[in-house]
Amino acid sequence: MSKGPRTAISPTREENYPEWYQQVIRAADLAENSPVRGCMVIKPWGYQLWENVQRALDDMFKATGHQNAYFPLFIPMSFLEKEAEHVEGFAKECAVVTHHRLEPDPDGGLRPAGKLEEPLIVRPTSETIIGATYAKWVQSYRDLPILINQWANVVRWEMRTRMFLRTAEFLWQEGHTVHATAEEAIEETEKMVEVYRDFAENWMAMPVIVGSKTPLERFPGAVETLSIEAMMQDRKALQAGTSHFLGQNFSKAQEIKFQSESGDIEYAWTTSWGVSTRLLGALIMTHSDDDGLVLPPRLAPMHVVIQPIYKDDSRAEVMEYVQSLRDELAAQTYANAPIRVTIDDRDIRGGEKKWYHVKRGVPIRLEVGPKDIAAGTVFCGIRNQPKSVGIERAELVATISDKLATLQQELFDAALKLREDNTVELKSEAEFRDFFADKGDTAITGGFAWCHYCDEDSLQPLLKELKVTIRCVPQTNNEAEGTCFLTGKPASQRAVFAKAY
Ligand code: AMP
Repeated sequence: MSKGPRTAISPTREENYPEWYQQVIRAADLAENSPVRGCMVIKPWGYQLWENVQRALDDMFKATGHQNAYFPLFIPMSFLEKEAEHVEGFAKECAVVTHHRLEPDPDGGLRPAGKLEEPLIVRPTSETIIGATYAKWVQSYRDLPILINQWANVVRWEMRTRMFLRTAEFLWQEGHTVHATAEEAIEETEKMVEVYRDFAENWMAMPVIVGSKTPLERFPGAVETLSIEAMMQDRKALQAGTSHFLGQNFSKAQEIKFQSESGDIEYAWTTSWGVSTRLLGALIMTHSDDDGLVLPPRLAPMHVVIQPIYKDDSRAEVMEYVQSLRDELAAQTYANAPIRVTIDDRDIRGGEKKWYHVKRGVPIRLEVGPKDIAAGTVFCGIRNQPKSVGIERAELVATISDKLATLQQELFDAALKLREDNTVELKSEAEFRDFFADKGDTAITGGFAWCHYCDEDSLQPLLKELKVTIRCVPQTNNEAEGTCFLTGKPASQRAVFAKAY
């Protein structure tokens, strides 16, 4: 593809960001649409990424005292009905199972039969079914806390879907905990949003803002929702993870009661927290460029790919050399794990092979041919650098770990710079309208706006008109007191506003 297009991905981000996103997924072979509306097929390269996300998060959950368990896919409808706000929040997007078998129909096809007495809901989230189980497990304060996580799939019948970001079925983890006191549950909610921040910033190289959701944006039934919000390269916000303090709302609905140390019967305090395959969408949109996927090394399924270059007569020599190079590199470590190195010896043209790995986001690409061997060098391309360079073999081995660490850091720094360059403080409705003016679906405009406001309800007409949402009330660097950008009245809160996925 050496004489091919200037960029491997067409259109570019500037030309049409939403279409660029789809094309990166395709070029990197991460996933594809399935015959089922809104549901995707996650292909091996995408699934390996998800497995790396899972592994890292799972270790972090366990290090904070949690264990994994598994609960049913189906929720009796009556369970959902118990918490009014919760049912209202999810009712519009529930898949409902009403029958339990198929029978031949007179036209020669099949039809559902065996109507269920009570419809079952395919879990959109599991607070209610897990809560009903916890009600049986919890009798005394000695049974608390319960600190459990579940890795599962859930279904939310979303009308507008987009691969990874919003699908009808998605993979996720959901933590569900029960505590004896409000303080402990709040502490848990904060601890887990901090785990998400740590993961987003240190593994995904994706800077995030941690904050509270406003009442209108909260999880249905939650007292408080904390979230991490990231800026994508088109300057839109993506909610990348949430941690909910559920107060006693679900324990009252589900009868999760316990005898306290003083002998009183009390309702427990619960939390839930989750991240999903949306994180892969976040990863793609944070780092990828017009040549395809860019992966932060800590999550990349492969750190280094070696491309041997040979003719028939030099094959044996080159293969022996790259195998020993592979072994030497694999004996090095990066971020406490062995370096993941693969030799790509497929019989395809060098240029095509190069672009294959560039588009899939492999952090470091090495090319080795007879001339490199004679010179004791390796041709080395780092995914965020425009040009490959020759480097001595010994130096490469000695610095491979540093190179990966540098790439990881540079990706974070670039993402943070993009956010900082596109974050403003707005003081008036005119400024707000100007910043968020609609310039068409594919134009890259706007960003994050920090604004004081006095009343969330009264902002709604303006926010709806401009398709802007309150992302969160940030926990840090936030001054509460100011003047409402809309009404000019004194305001006691400041939030980040943005267009969002
Ligand atoms: P929630 O239970 O609504 O707080 O969502 C938990 C996590 O799942 C959040 O990190 C959301 O960003 C993510 N999420 C919510 N809906 C979807 C969806 N349709 N597809 C993928 N991820 C989602």
